Amino acid sequence: MTHAMPQRFEQYLLDEQATLELGQRLAGFLTAPVVIYLCGDLGAGKTTLSRGLLRGLGHAGSVKSPTYTIVEPYELTPSPVYHFDLYRLGDPNELEYLGLRDYLAQGAVLIFEWPERGGMHMPPADLTVHLTPTDTGREAVIEGLSTFGCACVQRLRDGA
Ligand code: ADP
Ligand code: MG
Repeated sequence: MTHAMPQRFEQYLLDEQATLELGQRLAGFLTAPVVIYLCGDLGAGKTTLSRGLLRGLGHAGSVKSPTYTIVEPYELTPSPVYHFDLYRLGDPNELEYLGLRDYLAQGAVLIFEWPERGGMHMPPADLTVHLTPTDTGREAVIEGLSTFGCACVQRLRDGA
């Protein structure tokens, strides 16, 4: 009998530090090209998780929220990272002019806040992270949507 790969990992995040640590941990499993969607309302912790991801991918400096610039590039080794926030995207067609196609072709790590605003131009996600505020912390649910994404979820579940 074959077992379907687990597609889901859940974790309660007590505070901001826990969100950063989850991002850092997940980053350790990533290899480009990979597309990650971060879902959740304003204040859910998407940018915080992005900071953890970027730190784990080797970025030592600060991480600006790309709310107004839509995308922030990070020239990291071995792969560049592009952090998107599509909250203020006026029209999904604008994504075409942001070089999304080139980023994908060059084999980057793409992180999207508010992916649902990108419409039909969005590359499919390998992983989605859903963040939901609870009393004081956040509930994180990570789903794998590709073979690679499922392997990452498996490693999170294994406690690797
Ligand atoms: P978003 O990008 O989804 O709008 P942010 O990452 O900017 O959200 O986070 C909003 C606030 O939530 C920040 O003040 C951040 O410190 C806080 N925060 C992040 N993770 C947690 C957590 N697990 N528990 C409590 N507060 C958190
Ligand atoms: Mg944000």
